[in-house]
Amino acid sequence: MFSTLGKKRNLFVSEPPRRFSTVIETALIAAIAFLTSMHAFSHALSRNDLLARYGQMDVGRLEFATILLTLALALLLYMTMRAKLRRVGRLQQELQARNATDPVSGALTRGHFLHALDEAIGNHGANGSVAVVLIDIDHFKQINDVFGHPAGDAVLHFCAQAARQAFPGAVVGRLGGDELALFVCHDTRVTEAMVGQCCDRYLEVLRQGAAIENNRPAISASLGIALAPTHSRDLNDVLSYADLALYRVKNAGRGSWLVFGSAILDEMQRERFIERELRAAITQDQLEVHYQPIVDANGNLSSLEALVRWTNPVRGAISPAEFIPVAERSQLICELGRYVMRRVCHDMPRLPDVPVNVNISARQLAHEGFLAEYLQILDACGVAPSRFILEITESALLETSDAFVAKIADIRAAGFRIALDDFGMGYSEFNQLRKLPFDIIKIDKSYIQTIGTDIVTDTFVSAVTQIAGQMDRIVVAEGIETRDDNHRASLAGCRLFQGYYYQAPMALDRLSEAYRSGTCHGDGAAAGKDDDAAPAEPASAGERVSDAA
Ligand code: C2E
Ligand code: MG
Ligand code: MG
Repeated sequence: MFSTLGKKRNLFVSEPPRRFSTVIETALIAAIAFLTSMHAFSHALSRNDLLARYGQMDVGRLEFATILLTLALALLLYMTMRAKLRRVGRLQQELQARNATDPVSGALTRGHFLHALDEAIGNHGANGSVAVVLIDIDHFKQINDVFGHPAGDAVLHFCAQAARQAFPGAVVGRLGGDELALFVCHDTRVTEAMVGQCCDRYLEVLRQGAAIENNRPAISASLGIALAPTHSRDLNDVLSYADLALYRVKNAGRGSWLVFGSAILDEMQRERFIERELRAAITQDQLEVHYQPIVDANGNLSSLEALVRWTNPVRGAISPAEFIPVAERSQLICELGRYVMRRVCHDMPRLPDVPVNVNISARQLAHEGFLAEYLQILDACGVAPSRFILEITESALLETSDAFVAKIADIRAAGFRIALDDFGMGYSEFNQLRKLPFDIIKIDKSYIQTIGTDIVTDTFVSAVTQIAGQMDRIVVAEGIETRDDNHRASLAGCRLFQGYYYQAPMALDRLSEAYRSGTCHGDGAAAGKDDDAAPAEPASAGERVSDAA
């Protein structure tokens, strides 16, 4: 595949001028000029002079022959020039056609694609329709990094070809880097189901893999779809609607497709609202931090998890599960992280003398100045890093590269301890447990709450606790809601426990009060008095309390 691509002619270099034809044309022009000047010269002399000079020669014939020859040469010159002009025209046309096609993917170039799409939307307004599909090749950067740029080119070529195969009659274009797009015209109103079928077929073809050197790695892509005129008759609107759908697919984990709908617009509006208001809330100091105890098997306080809380003046309480992902997407997460850290440092003198678990997003870790900034905040408040356990939420961003391992090691060397949060939530690999120098593993509540009822969960939890035991790491069970949860998590090897069964997250004042009255020693007795979620009664052995926040 590479060789074929490599052998492609350079489409943007014009052919060299043909020397031979230029020589003939020059000779012809010279001959005509010579004959014309001869003709003029012959007119300047008198007939007797000519006869005297050329003897018996018939001057009339000579003149006639000269004129004929001049005309013949002029005709020849005209034909040569015409042929040349035609050739130039053909070359221009060819060049234009080549400029319309992207040499790597074989798809239309951006400008030509958009022009064709605009025309198609204009032509299919009355009864017909146009389905526009934006294609983003997943992890294209990694493909380039791992296999090299020629491989990336081959993947692009493959994806464009597969698009023609899966969407019959499609016009495929390359909008930039790893972005492809296509549109299909229909004589009737196209339905979501019709487009969906083609999308499924496309993803299936990609899954079968592109031939790269001796490999055939499976490719995956995210597709966002908008329909004209169903969603809009305007080119820019249709494209931005398809883009919104694509954005949703990418955020939901990629490798799928989505047709634009009004729900997406509502969601986007809500997201924009959250982003704007959260920015203001951080600046105006409107966020709070609540604390949830993490206890040992005897109910003794081991540490406190700091959880940010936000009550918007208009919308009321907004759950971190909703605004943290928005903060992550908008880069607000770093600002939010620093805010929480400052707040916890400020609260520290009033907190029980145990470490505080502070959540950090993997995105914050990617930020160069992360450690220095946190150390600066602690320094300003006179708090030691050893008072903190940084909980890194398990996510796709967690890598096991040497650079990342070194970064975690630096954070630990500075005095922080590290916990891997929500382990098992989909991105985890046991490889991460082995390679990354974590101190604590927090098993996600979805596992804890199904221990003993599901063989997969049981096997997973006991495997985690075994590995953790071998590596001298502590396992925390999150989401303990009932005595049964507690019992089963304990049997499975978890050493620390967190959940409504003990205490829900609570404000600093409540926490201080609880500690004065000793109610945090949890056996469920305090579970009804939390700030965040209010299980009405202490949880009995099998009874699950309602969800927090
Ligand atoms: P997380 O770090 O896993 O925090 C535990 C979540 O589980 C909290 O939700 C807590 O209220 C809830 N929880 C505690 N016990 C129980 C229980 O027994 N049952 C159930 N169903 N839930 C329980 P919350 O406060 O809504 O936070 C959600 C997530 O938001 C957190 O999950 C964390 O990933 C993120 N988060 C919260 N605060 C921060 C923060 O300051 N920074 C960052 N980066 N993320 C934060
Ligand atoms: Mg956490
Ligand atoms: Mg968690």
